[in-house]
Amino acid sequence: MHYLDHAATTPVSQETAQAMLAVLTRQFGNPSSQHTLGREAKKLVDGSRAIIAKSLACKSEQLYFTSCGTESDNWAIRAALHQNRRLGKHIVTTAVEHSAVLQCVKHLEQEGYSVSYVKPDSQGRVTADQIAAVLREDTALVSVMLVNNETGARFPIEEIAALLKDRSTLLHTDAVQGFLKIPFTAKSLGADYISISAHKIGGPKGIGALYTGGKAKTPQPLLYGGGQESNLRPGTEATAQIAGFAKAVELRQNHLEEILHHLADCRAYAVEKLEGIPTLQILSSGGAPHILAASLPGYPSQNIVSELNEKGIYISAGSACHRGKASHVFTAMGLDKKTAAGAIRISFGPETHKSDIDALADALAEHQRTRFPML
Ligand code: PLP
Repeated sequence: MHYLDHAATTPVSQETAQAMLAVLTRQFGNPSSQHTLGREAKKLVDGSRAIIAKSLACKSEQLYFTSCGTESDNWAIRAALHQNRRLGKHIVTTAVEHSAVLQCVKHLEQEGYSVSYVKPDSQGRVTADQIAAVLREDTALVSVMLVNNETGARFPIEEIAALLKDRSTLLHTDAVQGFLKIPFTAKSLGADYISISAHKIGGPKGIGALYTGGKAKTPQPLLYGGGQESNLRPGTEATAQIAGFAKAVELRQNHLEEILHHLADCRAYAVEKLEGIPTLQILSSGGAPHILAASLPGYPSQNIVSELNEKGIYISAGSACHRGKASHVFTAMGLDKKTAAGAIRISFGPETHKSDIDALADALAEHQRTRFPML
């Protein structure tokens, strides 16, 4: 198997799985229970939170566990709008956010909010000036992702935070694809809310976190129930997932420089190998090291994904969440229909070997040779 779809999700290491297994089978207490097993579980949740907080250089109290990145995004958006309910009903975001943000704000439009969707350039980039140009007196929230999940483009969150410094407008960043892929701390980004998710960094699925800081006050809950997560996010803590999240963060954080170099090497090697393939276009330039977008114009990406799948090579057609629909990201970048429809996403992880990239390049080259025998 050649797994080149790490932006969709990542494998859990043996060490992380062992940490989770211990919680599932031995330290399985409910953190709200008064007895020893419960207290141990509480300690484990607190310790895990401290590890993740350290990786963002924030305080443990600023980090709440959620069920996923999607929940963190929805919560941040709703919480910001609640806090700024007297300021206005205008939201600024980009046309290339993940559906966790886009669908949430689309829904808010039906509730009477107005939304400005900033479009990227042909490379998928968005500038702080573009954000500045659409800000209004009644802008309650700016939500801009840190790294785009289809192109790997990195957005200027620090500059946007500086723009908003003297305003009440709150800033949320969906950092699900940026967390431990590009170096940052909560302070260096300057966003009031930061969403992260475990399964993009070697942790389990079904666990995320939301950081709140800066101008953000205690967030209004999204769910109501028990008193977990400081009364703000009810539901018995997903202790095994939380332990897995922390272990994955620890493992990445301990070797971050090495891992980031490896990802950048993989990306550079893939660009070198793919550039020689007739008609293949590289679509993304720079940004996060783990994502490379390319296109075989005129050839539907769903088909190439299926053909590669037959050879045990796993990549995505744009984002894994689209399942056949033309990607809103490549469409917003202004790519012509054929190029957008042929867009593929190749993404790397610490486990990626050059042989995986060789297998992909060979398969794509063979595919193009059969399609264009004259080239
Ligand atoms: N935001 C971005 C940029 C993503 O890539 C993803 C996952 O694909 C999400 C949010 C959603 O995260 P989760 O799968 O944890 O809900």
